[in-house]
Amino acid sequence: MSKNKKRMPLKDAVKYNWRALKTIYGTRKKVLALRMAKHAFAALTPYVGIWLSARILDEISTSRNPETLTSLVLWTIGSAALITLIQSLLDRWHDAEQAGMYIHISHIMSEKMRKMDFVDIDDPKTHSLISTIQQNQTGGGWGMHRVTHNFNSIWSALFQIGGGIALTVSLFASKVPESAGGYTVLNSPYLTAAIILLMLFITYLAPKFSNSSGKYYAQNADKHNLGNRLFGYYGWFGKRQDNTVDARIYELADFCDKYALDKTDIFASKGYFAKLAKGKMGLLQAASAVTATLFTATVYLYVCVKGWAGAFGVGSITQYIGAITMFAGSFRTIIQQLGDMRNNAIFLKQVFKFLDIPNSMYQGSLTVEKRRDRDYDIEFRNVSFKYPGSEAYALKNVSIKFKVGERLAVVGRNGSGKTTFIKLLCRLYDPTEGEILLNGINIRKYDYENYMSVFSVVFQDFKILSLPLGENVAGSCSYDRERAEKCLRDAGFEERLNTLKDGLDTFLYKEYEPEGIDVSGGEAQKIALARTLYKDAPFIILDEPTAALDPVAEAEIYSNFNNIVGDKTAIYISHRLSSCRFCDKIAVFDEGEIVQYGNHNSLVEETEGKYFELWNAQARYYNEEQQ
Ligand code: ADP
Repeated sequence: MSKNKKRMPLKDAVKYNWRALKTIYGTRKKVLALRMAKHAFAALTPYVGIWLSARILDEISTSRNPETLTSLVLWTIGSAALITLIQSLLDRWHDAEQAGMYIHISHIMSEKMRKMDFVDIDDPKTHSLISTIQQNQTGGGWGMHRVTHNFNSIWSALFQIGGGIALTVSLFASKVPESAGGYTVLNSPYLTAAIILLMLFITYLAPKFSNSSGKYYAQNADKHNLGNRLFGYYGWFGKRQDNTVDARIYELADFCDKYALDKTDIFASKGYFAKLAKGKMGLLQAASAVTATLFTATVYLYVCVKGWAGAFGVGSITQYIGAITMFAGSFRTIIQQLGDMRNNAIFLKQVFKFLDIPNSMYQGSLTVEKRRDRDYDIEFRNVSFKYPGSEAYALKNVSIKFKVGERLAVVGRNGSGKTTFIKLLCRLYDPTEGEILLNGINIRKYDYENYMSVFSVVFQDFKILSLPLGENVAGSCSYDRERAEKCLRDAGFEERLNTLKDGLDTFLYKEYEPEGIDVSGGEAQKIALARTLYKDAPFIILDEPTAALDPVAEAEIYSNFNNIVGDKTAIYISHRLSSCRFCDKIAVFDEGEIVQYGNHNSLVEETEGKYFELWNAQARYYNEEQQ
């Protein structure tokens, strides 16, 4: 898209890369130090070999003294062994420290997500931003991880340049003897300076071409990402087990084939990127390769002519060629990596846009009093709410008060505001108007995490993880097994639990464990319920808790519910009114308002009321089902 088209100003590119380095290594200084040591050592040590081989060649081509030769060979072997030893020690040390870096970078992102205001998590713009960041990372390797690679390469190249200069100074300083006639022109400082400049210029050109070519990838990251997403979905469409039946019945083979066989697909031989490669992008790559070769030719020519004219011996020729080639390679690396960092900066900008999303929700500092008698009460006082960006009220002037130990049912048609009511209670959003009080204090004044500890919620879209059953229930690796088992039994999972030979250690799902078990929607809901019970919070909130259960399982759970919930306060959201009969109070929601409030018997008598209407509609449905 157009925002990727322009290149970022150098100053900003430096700023983003520097900030990324600080963000990544700020808490990982040891890895940084080891990384620098490892790369510095690896960059400098090849020169030891180059220097010693040059001395051996010089010796062979001049005095041929056996003692000197033996000593040089021993030095070469000894230093090579020592260097390898130190290098491998540094590598192992570094690798052990470095192992967690990939996870560390991912963790920076997930921590942000965890601490972000829910209103931002729920915002489609945030979703789109995260998804773009992820696609840039997986598709083109752009983003935070690239910064560490760039940094390593530049750091190592700086040392190689230092070593290269040390071994090359004498090439330009050594003089051709006067006896060499016309070759003495090589002693001219102007010619030497011109040759150095020419070499630097050619060295500079190669990565410049290559960066200009790389820019096409950066600028087309959106196309690249879209191609990857489409291929990731449709390219594998026919191979996914859950799609094979649909694919056969609806003859969806064309979809699958398009992404496997169509040559004009974005990554195929006649696709967009192939066209780029055949056009300017490919030409720039070729130009980069040609200039690199041109450089090698210039170096060979200059060194050989100077050696031929007698400025130095055969050994030095190999030394200079080796050192200059390494020097030039490193110089190219630096230019190339700097260009790459600049191309990457536009993607880092998106990462920081995400990391910089401010937490604007007011955060109080009060702690919720941990009462032994669990005597809590909650009050909604004239609460109205509009979702961000929406003009319509999702809740209108809701006032309700409930005390600990009560069972409150929240009922109403889809879209009547039930889930919104719970989201506000859990402070995922703040009311647009009015206030919510816990024990008489506005919930905004409590420390958020502390406030949340009072609630156990099962939302409709709860997640059960591919982990052992017991860990899922406890939400932790170490847990009280007896309690976890009791919670599973209370939640109605007992029968299935008895069939599992590994009990709480049974892995759920097969993604990470072939012996794992699949659970039905209803069973997953029971596990989620057990998790809620395990948390043992004073408030239990169940959003459509039995939606995925069959009527028998539902009846079984409800008949037991009062015992399960014990002295806790329970709030149920349900569209099945029959499930709510046991509740002390029922709040009937309609178009964001509480239109009725009372127990089942009193509400069902109000024949003009919403509850009566809903109740009759459902009763008819159940009666018809039973006929
Ligand atoms: P229920 O739980 O009773 O089905 P909700 O509380 O989910 O109802 O929805 C109440 C109203 O708020 C509906 O009109 C719904 O479309 C709207 N709504 C729900 N979630 C959002 C959201 N994230 N952004 C904008 N509007 C929303």
